[in-house]
Amino acid sequence: MESLAELDHRYLWHPFTQMRDWLKTEPIVLVRGRGAELMDDRGRKYLDANSSIWTNLHGHNHPRINRAIVQQLGKIAHSSALGFANEPASQLGKALILAASPTASSAAAADTKKNPRTALSKVFFSDDGSTAMEVALKLAFETARRSGRARKPRFLSLQNAYHGDTVGAVSLGHIDLFHKAYSPLLFKSDKVMAPYCYRCTFNRTKPERADARQYRKCNWECLAQLEQKCAIKRRGGEPYAGFVFEPSMQGAAGMIPQPKGWLQRACGIARENGALLIADEVMTGFGRTGSAQTQSTFAESNDVPGSSPPLRPSTRMSRVPVRSPLFACHHEDVQPDLMALAKGLTGGYLPMAATLSSQAVFDSFLGEYEDFKTFFHGHSFTGNQLGAASALASLEMLQEPASTTARVQLENALTQQLGQLWQHPQVGDIRQAGLIAGIELVEDWKTRKPFDLRQRAGMRVCEAMARRGVLTRPVGNVVVLMPPYCTTEKQVKRMVAVLGESIAETLQGKSP
Ligand SMILES: *Cc1c(COP(=O)(O)O)cnc(C)c1O
Repeated sequence: MESLAELDHRYLWHPFTQMRDWLKTEPIVLVRGRGAELMDDRGRKYLDANSSIWTNLHGHNHPRINRAIVQQLGKIAHSSALGFANEPASQLGKALILAASPTASSAAAADTKKNPRTALSKVFFSDDGSTAMEVALKLAFETARRSGRARKPRFLSLQNAYHGDTVGAVSLGHIDLFHKAYSPLLFKSDKVMAPYCYRCTFNRTKPERADARQYRKCNWECLAQLEQKCAIKRRGGEPYAGFVFEPSMQGAAGMIPQPKGWLQRACGIARENGALLIADEVMTGFGRTGSAQTQSTFAESNDVPGSSPPLRPSTRMSRVPVRSPLFACHHEDVQPDLMALAKGLTGGYLPMAATLSSQAVFDSFLGEYEDFKTFFHGHSFTGNQLGAASALASLEMLQEPASTTARVQLENALTQQLGQLWQHPQVGDIRQAGLIAGIELVEDWKTRKPFDLRQRAGMRVCEAMARRGVLTRPVGNVVVLMPPYCTTEKQVKRMVAVLGESIAETLQGKSP
């Protein structure tokens, strides 16, 4: 009989993978998971250091999510949302809208009180992050046309943006390596400079052994560029239909975090210039970006170049309850018009996605049947019951105080552990936003000189980590650590220690 690895080699084609390389080595065949641990078909154990590509929240094989799925399975697995309502999807809709509402005391809440039609109030379900973004983009496109704001609606997104792999989502993206080949298939969208403090040409500081957001010196030139782009389009009579962004941290771009204050200002500029705000929270949603602590890693007073010393993230638990919003937008008091959710929606158990829409966007699709204003879009598995049941269980857990406390503790432990990586000259930048960390590998931290991508530095380090029982994937030269929320302090220590050892082995020639 063929082994599972042989079957895979014979029949499967893996995503984002050079299959010639894949076929040269025996793959790890994962057969079980529990908590932050995965097990392969030979009984070897691993830590899941990237939450199975950014999806898993509470750990694998979680009894509460398992129970919710099994209970739902005993009733029905799937029925169509085309023509019928169902139990868990209806409940999940309400739970999502409540969770995505701004906290009562925030400025965003005051805004929506003044103008209730801007509040997120409807949920459109689909299957994946890419489809959630397709939905958002079609909705924004039609809304712009129907309101007469634009005849040929155009979108603005961030440099190096990634919003998925379907053709519409790819059109919003700006990663040449993934997107260039398909350019004849795509519609045109504009890009604007994203804040990437570590490699920003406007950041006039020498590299330091700290997150570049903490020691940057600039005058928000990235925002000036955004303002210019938006204003030109508006003055031309065709404002952008939408400003598309990943709040807090751009994931596939290489874990590029935004300095405090950037998102709120950027969204203010876009909105003043007539664009809808389209937040891609596919990676950042559901508590991933943690408490306010690692978000706010530098002082606002840094706006004035060379002023007060930068703040360091606090590693001590504070006694007051830490604010830990479930969505990254809320760290910056931003309330988008459209919000895309996927990866963690079901706790990372089943493929399901949601696009949350404002009442105003929803209303622009209302009319008499024969007006044909209907949103002609949908998928076979829209509103799937198993996915919805899983998501409800996950969301319920996320909202329990114990879960918030555990996330804050894990976030602090991660901050503390990551500090030891600065000792490696090949670590250029360590960027953390809550429970997401990106470690950028460079030839020499003093010059920020990047490794040539052909050297596969990030990939080789991750391969060395896998040999030590810690699984993650890099984005180019950036190693990602994104532990499930159930990860223990001991496990997070091991993840970071193994990364350090693997850097030493791979990039400093130290024997394992
Ligand atoms: C993963 C991701 C997507 C695409 O989601 P899929 O489920 O892979 O289609 C879109 N946007 C962001 C920010 C992502 O991280």
